[in-house]
Amino acid sequence: MLHNPVSPLTGRPAGLRRGRAARGSLEKHANPLISLISVLAAVAALTLALVPPASHFLAGRARQEGELTARASLLAFQVSRRAWLLEEPGGQRGLAQILSPAASDSTAEYRLLLAPDGTPLMAFPEEESLPWPRIAHSAPVLVEDKVVAQVRVIRSLREELEHTALIALGCGAVGLLAFLLLRMLPMRLLDQAMSRAAYLAAHDTLTGLANRASFQERLARDLREAEATDSSVALLYLDLDRFKEVNDTLGHSAGDALLREIAHRMSQGLRASDTLARLGGDEFAIIQTGATQPEAATALAERLIQLLAPPVDLSGNQVSAAVSIGIALSLPGQRPNAAQLAHDADIAMYQAKQAGRGCHRLFAPEMNQCLEERRAMERDLRRALARQEFHLAYQPLVDLPTGRVIGAEALLRWNRPGHGPVPPDRFIPLAEESGLISQIGFWVLAEACREATSWPEHMSVAVNVSAVQFRGGGLAEVVEAVLRSYALPASRLELEITETALLQDTDEVIATLKRLRVLGVRIAMDDFGTGHSSLGYLSRFHFDKIKIDRSFVQAMAEDVNARAIIHSMVGLSNTLGIRAHAEGVEYPEQAEFLRQEGYAEVQGWLYGRPVPGPEFAARYISAPAPQEGG
Ligand code: C2E
Ligand code: CA
Ligand code: CA
Repeated sequence: MLHNPVSPLTGRPAGLRRGRAARGSLEKHANPLISLISVLAAVAALTLALVPPASHFLAGRARQEGELTARASLLAFQVSRRAWLLEEPGGQRGLAQILSPAASDSTAEYRLLLAPDGTPLMAFPEEESLPWPRIAHSAPVLVEDKVVAQVRVIRSLREELEHTALIALGCGAVGLLAFLLLRMLPMRLLDQAMSRAAYLAAHDTLTGLANRASFQERLARDLREAEATDSSVALLYLDLDRFKEVNDTLGHSAGDALLREIAHRMSQGLRASDTLARLGGDEFAIIQTGATQPEAATALAERLIQLLAPPVDLSGNQVSAAVSIGIALSLPGQRPNAAQLAHDADIAMYQAKQAGRGCHRLFAPEMNQCLEERRAMERDLRRALARQEFHLAYQPLVDLPTGRVIGAEALLRWNRPGHGPVPPDRFIPLAEESGLISQIGFWVLAEACREATSWPEHMSVAVNVSAVQFRGGGLAEVVEAVLRSYALPASRLELEITETALLQDTDEVIATLKRLRVLGVRIAMDDFGTGHSSLGYLSRFHFDKIKIDRSFVQAMAEDVNARAIIHSMVGLSNTLGIRAHAEGVEYPEQAEFLRQEGYAEVQGWLYGRPVPGPEFAARYISAPAPQEGG
């Protein structure tokens, strides 16, 4: 399973491109900051490099100056005490004793005795060889407040300078290091922050795939490139089947884990040049470039469907995560723009969904027509109630041990003008999606109850209730009002709900079911065994009946697993005290098997097809024994 959302999967090219674009704009904002950091780092580095040597040199010079001043003053004082030597012809030797540096004096010094006007009189040593730079200080030789001569002492600062140079070298290195560190560290942090921000701008944080924005950027670019190079682009839209179910039943973290795993698996089916993006929710998209179309896109779709087929383990729950895939193409001579291409892929994806789970469809212009037809059907459906185009057909429910008809399931029929009868499997999902099912469902309930009042008291009526009818509450109140208005005892009404109804908002649905049960209405779980959480609901609500789906009955002749399921379902319902019902019984052998297994109730063409109310009354009420073969 993919746990690392940071690792970019095959959305990389798009992600990086957008990453670069996002980075560019971030860098523009960061430029003044970068300059400031550089300046501060340079100031700090220069301070480190210059201040210690400079202060070392200045301190050395100050010390030398101090010493020089003291020395010159001392020598001038000593000369003044023997001032007569200046006049005496042999006085020079005496003065030399005073002025020549002592052998122990290690400091190289040049001493001059000058006349008051500055003319040199004597020099020690005679040859001046002090290296540059030098400093000098003069002190007057005073006799009775009169300047009779000057003593000038000169020293070299070469040693200070050499030390200073060494220190400067060391400090320069430290300064350089400091500059690099001070500049690099914040720059690195800034760089990391910018990279992260750019990554976030271009990627989906959950899966690490390219996000919608970078996907769109990439699509536009790839379409332009394909046009320039006369090549093809395929756009695949992928939508997980039953993802909402996983989210609702197992929780959001399981949903997230599923999405990550799906992203991981899908990325394994791609080439490096393909772009995979998560557009949001359970929607993914792939851009495929530089391939022969439509072969490459359909091959990719098939590969993906296979990769996603094995169930995903979500903390012990095996969840199958099939996808529906819609493909749209941009081909030489047939170039829809990006928006049109996305629209086409979406329509193809919708068609794939309609075709069943784990399918792919290539967009064809006729699909637009399908969509048109759907809209037209929805429009007609809106008017159908007012125009009285609906009627109910009743299919007998048979008590298996006695063979008596004990009621009927009301099944909705629509006779669409200009089209004839439309199967409920085609229009009910549409009525559910458009919300029309609430009104239609109410009509079905009222009509079925009205019809049932004409039946003998031992016969009940079963009405299918759609998930949408549970939304917003109020279903129990509606049922109560309908029962009251037809004076039909609640015990004669049975409501059939499928697992999808329970999946919506389980707590609310179960509360409604409990209210209905308090009224005395019986509740049956329809199409039992087709969803993967049917069993879970049995522990949360006490159903009166489970109707095992007709697919099991139909498969039981050749499928040992179907027989095993039929067997275990009846065992389960006996344990829980729930009435077991089998649907879709067409052959006497099926009925016989079910009887031996201990099923209480059956329904199917063997006993009777759904027929309009008057026909039902004529067939099953006058003659209590059902006619086989309907
Ligand atoms: P369902 O509730 O499972 O209804 C049973 C379906 O199985 C009916 O299809 C019925 O005609 C069919 N059937 C019964 N016996 C046999 C048999 O022996 N063999 C075969 N192959 N099929 C048999 P129908 O009438 O086309 O209804 C399809 C689905 O439409 C129903 O499945 C139900 O889910 C939905 N539906 C029908 N009427 C209503 C309604 O008033 N409200 C809602 N919400 N859904 C309805
Ligand atoms: Ca049903
Ligand atoms: Ca059913």
